[in-house]
Amino acid sequence: MSDDKRELMQTTHGDSASGHFSVDDNSFYKTLLESTNAIPWRVDWASKQFTYIGPQIGDILGLKPSAWTTIEDWASYMHPEDRSWAVDFCLTHSMACIDHEADYRVRKGSGNYVWIRDVIHVISSEQGEVTALMGFMFDITERKETEHKLLSLQRELEELSFKDGLTEVPNRRMLDKELERLWMDCIHQQRSFSVLMIDIDFFKQFNDFYGHIKGDSCLKTLAQCLYNSAARSRDFFARYGGEEFIMLLPDTDSESANKVAMRCQQLVSELNIEHLGSLIADVLTISIGIGSIVPTRADNMITFVENVDKALYQAKQRGRNLIVQA
Ligand code: GH3
Ligand code: MG
Ligand code: MG
Repeated sequence: MSDDKRELMQTTHGDSASGHFSVDDNSFYKTLLESTNAIPWRVDWASKQFTYIGPQIGDILGLKPSAWTTIEDWASYMHPEDRSWAVDFCLTHSMACIDHEADYRVRKGSGNYVWIRDVIHVISSEQGEVTALMGFMFDITERKETEHKLLSLQRELEELSFKDGLTEVPNRRMLDKELERLWMDCIHQQRSFSVLMIDIDFFKQFNDFYGHIKGDSCLKTLAQCLYNSAARSRDFFARYGGEEFIMLLPDTDSESANKVAMRCQQLVSELNIEHLGSLIADVLTISIGIGSIVPTRADNMITFVENVDKALYQAKQRGRNLIVQA
């Protein structure tokens, strides 16, 4: 019991002549204690035994108060993942005479787990020695479940905001973040960095010839194919916009980047997507601009990407289905 509560009880006692009850009226405190929607409890510190557990343990945990005699019994009902830290946390704080709260899962009589928030008050002697612990265990399962749902929704939302809705590969937003990160990494480690800009040839004609629905599904197939082709986990592929895609290749010089670009073209040709609207082939083709650099702080990332874009433009100018290095 907190000192505030003790004081309140004494004040109540003083007023008892004019009030409805006295401090001797144990039924008032008993009713108050046992009508609360939580499990009140008390542990004797020397013996580590429960000296009181409220009958609410029946409603909340489906157990009889006699199920827990010692704090070992209490610990044995904890979820194995919570037990070690929760017991340690509660004992450490108790020994230090610090009131505390702990959230952990407790096994019900039925075998299911409920989330408990245990609010613990440490009682000590005048000499500062711990004599007892008392507290309330609140059932916070519903709150925890809501928290959990909110967290997973938040994660889903975060994922969606970095994913292109049509092709399901990383979007422009994610690209901007990754580009910045990889560029800085390569500056720090003085490593080469390559970027591939990939653009579908005559895609306007594809839409005109086959319709937008087929156009959409073609974009998705191509994006998924190139996305899954990333040989190393640190390579990054994104939809830049429209029918343009980008590949970021850290630790890759121009020669290796050229090989990756050729592989991309090979993969697209293997997709063998008919494109009778194309002026250079009867299947879908791509043009690729490549830029490679060992960046320093003096280099400008935007200028570098603009140069890759210019290389792509060159590939278009020179006839398409080509790879051009900046
Ligand atoms: P080039 O070979 O010079 O790249 O010619 P292009 O026709 O591919 O390029 P242009 O920039 O003229 O046209 C791009 C086309 O891509 C126009 C647009 O309708 C189509 N496009 C862009 N985004 C989408 C999309 O999300 N779905 C579909 N179906 N088409 C798209
Ligand atoms: Mg195009
Ligand atoms: Mg384009």
